[in-house]
Amino acid sequence: MTATTTDIPNPGNLIGGQWVPARSGETFENRNPADTDDLVALHAASDASDLDAAFAAASEAFPGWRATPGIARGNILYKAAEILASRVEHIARELTREEGKTLKEATGETMRAVAILRYYAGETAQPHGEMYPSASATTMLYTLREPLGVVTIITPWNFPIAIPAWKLVPAIAFGNAVVIKPASDAPLCTIRLAEALVDAGLPAGVLNVVTGSARALGDGLVTDERSVAVSFTGSDATGKIIREQATAHGKKVQLELGGKNPAIVLADADMDHALTQVINGAMMSTGQKCTATSRAIVDRAIASEFTQRLADKIGGLKVGNGLDGDTQIGPLINAAAAESVADEVAKAKSTGTNLLVGGERMASNGHSRGHFVAPALFDGVTPDSRLGQHELFGPVLGVIPVDGLDEAVAVANGVRYGLSASLFTRDLTRAMTFVREIQAGIVHVNSETAGAEPQVPFGGYKGSSSYSREQGKAARDFFTQVKTVYLDPSPA
Ligand code: NAP
Repeated sequence: MTATTTDIPNPGNLIGGQWVPARSGETFENRNPADTDDLVALHAASDASDLDAAFAAASEAFPGWRATPGIARGNILYKAAEILASRVEHIARELTREEGKTLKEATGETMRAVAILRYYAGETAQPHGEMYPSASATTMLYTLREPLGVVTIITPWNFPIAIPAWKLVPAIAFGNAVVIKPASDAPLCTIRLAEALVDAGLPAGVLNVVTGSARALGDGLVTDERSVAVSFTGSDATGKIIREQATAHGKKVQLELGGKNPAIVLADADMDHALTQVINGAMMSTGQKCTATSRAIVDRAIASEFTQRLADKIGGLKVGNGLDGDTQIGPLINAAAAESVADEVAKAKSTGTNLLVGGERMASNGHSRGHFVAPALFDGVTPDSRLGQHELFGPVLGVIPVDGLDEAVAVANGVRYGLSASLFTRDLTRAMTFVREIQAGIVHVNSETAGAEPQVPFGGYKGSSSYSREQGKAARDFFTQVKTVYLDPSPA
């Protein structure tokens, strides 16, 4: 059973196992960024009273869920995976309509949420403690991993089903109760994920979804004392506020923030392969990935040819509604984002950086009802310029010419971020040097900066994260705490 009964979904919040409207009765609209005539859904415009009910429901559910054997929790996740898999086609279309990425990318992302459910279902059957030798002959000395309690999850709009999944699924797999607030620009996919879990038999209150603007929900989203931890993915500015609020309240906090990801292309690289990978990394999802390539750091020996070929290909990308089969690049998430990216491009151009292609708002030929910006390429970007340092979060790539690997790595490391980085080369020694010297949490050799598999840790160095990692076994470190047990059944 789904939460909607009309053509326009209006699911409300999930609180204590019930789909309920905001207590105020207010809703807000969510429209397709490729076509603002397309009303995708109405959502509960929640306030602090709805949040209060969600924390109360999670607190009530936690003891029972904590006591539920991990294997039983895992069985619910396996069932939710099958339910979600049976709904992929429908959800992927909604994802494209609410976020804008192409249907192919939306389908891949929804399948990734299925894979995450399966992975953590399996994790519940893995050992979650360690046995140690003790100085005492009669003491059994071991550790247990236990859940934290009620945890708060706050997610961005750019991966509207994968990011909620990779946070909330491990949280509940390891026995926590969750209150999640999805981004206001794309809340529907979190609701579809929650529906699959509810339909799979997740007990009431273990997962609570509250939609609405962070401003209307108030500081309680981060500071409410019933929640002991906050996992956040989003912008640096919001992350800074959350870090301060959460630590002031003694909470465990995890932040996944921005990136300014480099792709280094050396003179010995397979140029055709590097071109495809750099363009995919920079432009897929309209450049709105935290792991998107925004700097192509290219050896001067090939920079001119490589840049010209980039310009030809980027200029030929088909921009449009992600539901159209031939679209390669969708819209920006909203009008403000499109304005901001176009403004940044104009500013960089006005300060003398060479714009080779794109960068303008697109308003004709089927683009008039969406937030479209033509994919842009700059040449001769200076490493310390705004274009070389600042995350634009849009389809904009800057080429920085360098002399060899050492300079390339120095430029790559010369930003405050350190999320993802790529190197293109055929030389194993250079590849090993790059892996050793690059300051990034995710490192690729001969593949694009974007892309992450769910079974391995994900997160950044420096300003890109709070030094914690998500996904894979790393998620267990955040969503559990360790109990050390000295058990002596027969003390002397
Ligand atoms: P955002 O504006 O920071 O919003 C993220 C979430 O935080 C939304 O749910 C938002 O709610 C909420 N929020 C806003 N202000 C808040 C506050 N004061 N207290 C608590 N919550 C608050 O970020 P975004 O624009 O959605 O996402 C884009 C950014 O995310 C980019 O910088 C990107 O690099 C980063 N990102 C990082 C990763 C990673 O893993 N490192 C992955 C994806 C994206 P509302 O929507 O209601 O405002």
